[in-house]
Amino acid sequence: MKKAVFPGSFDPVTLGHIDIISRSLPLFDEIVIAIGINAKKNYMFSVDERKKFIQNAFFAEQKITVETYTGLTVDYCKTINADFILRGLRNPADFEFEKAIAQTNRKLSGIETVFLLTSAETSFISSSIVRDVVKNGGDASILLPKSVSEYLKKE
Ligand code: ADP
Repeated sequence: MKKAVFPGSFDPVTLGHIDIISRSLPLFDEIVIAIGINAKKNYMFSVDERKKFIQNAFFAEQKITVETYTGLTVDYCKTINADFILRGLRNPADFEFEKAIAQTNRKLSGIETVFLLTSAETSFISSSIVRDVVKNGGDASILLPKSVSEYLKKE
């Protein structure tokens, strides 16, 4: 059984994340979308909101579960018996950052990180840009799955 963890902040989940997750479905039997909780970080959306956004976007997909975790990603992977970490790459900055983490994780635990290259249509999307648009009263719906954009419209 090929089980992968897709770790991230997902504050909020964007069409960029959705693209990576959807394209990874044929590669794995199970994908755990793992929301990392860092007590020192200030998030725009609560853990429950972030979890619901992802669950609602993938409610019909049996392979996907959404969880939260604290501490090292590799420790979390061990706890749930996942052999792969999934990450997305948008640009050279992502690559440099992800390279060091993936190499460290493999040395620490043997866990292999699988990278999917961003799609051309979603390569510019980031949660931080979405947060900026939302904070300033703009409409970020073209960057977001319905589960997030409809929630924002109701607020
Ligand atoms: P983190 O704080 O761990 O970077 P994010 O939620 O920002 O959490 O991102 C989680 C993962 O999703 C990362 O691997 C990131 O590179 C990837 N990702 C984010 N946006 C995109 C996008 N537009 N295209 C491809 N991958 C993306």
